[in-house]
Amino acid sequence: MKKLLSVLLVFCLCLTFALPAFAADGGVTVDSAWSILVPAQPTQYENFAAQKLKTELSTVFGKEISVVSQASGNYIAIGSASGADISKLAVNGYRIQVIDGNIHIGGTGVRGLQAGAYRFLEEFCGRKVYAYDCIEMPAADSITVPADTDISYEPFFEYTDTDWLSPCDTEYSLSNGLDGGTYRSIPAEAGGTVNYLGGFCHTMGTLCETEAHKESDPEQLALHDGKRTTDQPCLTNPDVLAIATANVLNILEQRYDPQASVQIVSVTQNDNQHYCECDRCKAFEKSHGGVPSATMINFVNQIADAVKAAGYDNAAIDTFAYQYTRQAPEGIVPRDNVIVRLCTIECCFRHTLDDSGCSRNKKLMEDLNDWSKICKRIYVWDYTTNYSNTCIVFPDFGVIQRNIQVFYEHNVKGVYEEGNYYIRSCNTEFGELRAYMISKCLQNPYCDYDAEMKGFLNAYYGPGGEDIGKILEMHLANTGTHLSIGESPSASFSFTNKEIAEINSLWAEAKSSAQNDKQLERITRSELSWRFWKGSTGKGEFSLLNPERFDEREKLFEDFKAHDVRMISEGSYDDYLDCLCVRYVTTNEWNMYEADESGAQTRLSFGKFFESLVPFLSFYGLLYKLFGVAP
Ligand SMILES: [Zn+2]
Ligand SMILES: [Zn+2]
Repeated sequence: MKKLLSVLLVFCLCLTFALPAFAADGGVTVDSAWSILVPAQPTQYENFAAQKLKTELSTVFGKEISVVSQASGNYIAIGSASGADISKLAVNGYRIQVIDGNIHIGGTGVRGLQAGAYRFLEEFCGRKVYAYDCIEMPAADSITVPADTDISYEPFFEYTDTDWLSPCDTEYSLSNGLDGGTYRSIPAEAGGTVNYLGGFCHTMGTLCETEAHKESDPEQLALHDGKRTTDQPCLTNPDVLAIATANVLNILEQRYDPQASVQIVSVTQNDNQHYCECDRCKAFEKSHGGVPSATMINFVNQIADAVKAAGYDNAAIDTFAYQYTRQAPEGIVPRDNVIVRLCTIECCFRHTLDDSGCSRNKKLMEDLNDWSKICKRIYVWDYTTNYSNTCIVFPDFGVIQRNIQVFYEHNVKGVYEEGNYYIRSCNTEFGELRAYMISKCLQNPYCDYDAEMKGFLNAYYGPGGEDIGKILEMHLANTGTHLSIGESPSASFSFTNKEIAEINSLWAEAKSSAQNDKQLERITRSELSWRFWKGSTGKGEFSLLNPERFDEREKLFEDFKAHDVRMISEGSYDDYLDCLCVRYVTTNEWNMYEADESGAQTRLSFGKFFESLVPFLSFYGLLYKLFGVAP
C-alpha cells in the first residue's frame, strides 16, 4: 500500500508541475464544467457514445456532466454535432480532433463513433479495461487533451473474435475492439456484432442435405476411395449447388440485417478428409492447380453470386482453407463477397509464422502468400492454447503480435483466435493476460505490446506483477524446439534446477506482495500452472527424491478443486476428479487413472506399496535436501 501511495504521490506531483506547461502550450483542459454536445435528434449510435462519455467522465470528475444539444460553454461534440471531417474514413473508423478549443469526435459505420468515445476515455482519461473485473480509471479534477490532437483510426480487421473469459463481456469487448458474434452480445446501439448466421463451421452436410439424399440421389454424395459417402457432398453436382444455394438464401431471408456491418454465412467442409474424387471433380481440379480447393471456391463463388444477385449487399459467404483445401487453386479467384478462412492448426507457436527458420510454419506462409495474391478477404482461424495440457503455460506470448501483423499484411480481414473456450472449468495459467494481449493486437497490431503487458500485469496482479513478468520472460526464453497446440509438459519447457528455484522464489515474492485477496487469488491461480508443470515432469517438490512428493500431489489436487478446475485438457470435463492415483502418478496423468479406467487399481496398489517403503529409504530425503530440487 505504501508503495502505491508513493507512486500516486509522485504522479500527482508530476501532474501539478505538468499542467501549467500543457496550458502554456495550448493544451485543452476538460473538466466538469464541460458538456457533451449531440445533434437535436441524435441517432442511436450518437446517443450511446454521448451517454458512455457522460457516465465515465462524471465518474472521473466526481460531478455530473450534462448532455446538451445547444452548448453554452466548452463541449465534446459527438457524431453529426462534431466538425471532425470523416468523409475519407473507412467504415467503422473514427476521428478525434481538437477544433477551436473544443473536442470533436466523429465516426463511420455502425460502431466507429462509439469506438471513438472509448478511445477518448482510454487515451485521455487513462481508462483501461484489462479484464471484466479489472477496470482502471483514475479520478481527476480535469484531464488535458493536447491542442494538436487529431487521431484517426480505421479498423485493421472487419471481424475480430477470441474465446477466454473477459472477451465474453460486452464492456470489455467494446473497450478492446472485439466484435465477433460467437462469444459476445453487443447491443445494436453500441454497434452490434459481426455474426455467422446458421452455423460457425463444418456446415456443408447440413446445407447440402447430404444425408437426406443418400438413397435417392447418391451422385450428390462425394465419391471417395471408390465409394459414395455422406461425409462430404460432390461439389460439381449442379443439384447439390442448387440445394445449398436455396438453403443459404433461406438463412439470409430469415436473419438478414441490412444495418449490420457484415453478416456471414459459413459454407465450410465437414471435419473429415473424404472429399469427392469423381471424374468431374478431378477434371475441374486438374485444370485449376490440381488442388481440392478449386472445386470448393468454384462452388462458393456461385452461391456468393446468387447472394449478391438477391441484393444481400453486406452478406459474405465464408469457406475454409483447412487441411485438404489449404492450398490455393490456380485460374479461379474468390469473389469479393467470399471469405476464405485459413486455419493454422498444424503450425508451431514458438516461432512466428514468418520465421523462415521454422519448418512447420513455412508451408502455411506459402499458402497464405498464395491466397493473398488471389483473395482480398482472407479470415484466419488461429490457435492460442495447449489443448492437451491446458493447465501449463502455453508460451506463445512471443508470437501473438507478430502473427497478427503477418495476417494484416496479407489481406486478412478477420481473425478468430481460438483459445481456451473451456476456461471456466480450466483456469490456471495466464488466460486473462493472453485474452487482453490478443484483443489489443487485433485492435491495433502495431500497439505498444510491452507497455500493454506491463500495464496488465501491474493492474491485475498488483505489485507482484513485476515478478510475474519475470516468470513469463523465463518461460519464453526457455526455448525448446517447436511448439504445437498439444505439446507435452516436458517438451514445452526444460528448466534447470537453478531456474526452477528462481521461479519458485519469484512466485513466493509475488504472493507476499499482494495487497488484497483478489490479487492473491489471481497470483495463486496462475501459479497452479507452474505447480502443475513441476508435477507433470517430476521437478522441484514433485521430485522422485522428495519423500513428500505424494503429499504435494494431493495438495495440488485439492488446490485445483478449490479453484474450480474441473478439466486438465480439452473435452475432459470432470474426468480427472475421480482419479484413484492422485498421489502416485504425475499430475498430467490424473486423467488416465480414473476410478473406471482399467489398470487404475493396479497402479494404486503399486503406489501404496511404494509409498510404504519410503520411510526405509531415508537417504532419498537426504539426497533431496542436499541437491535441492533435483533431479
Ligand atoms: Zn464430385
Ligand atoms: Zn517452430
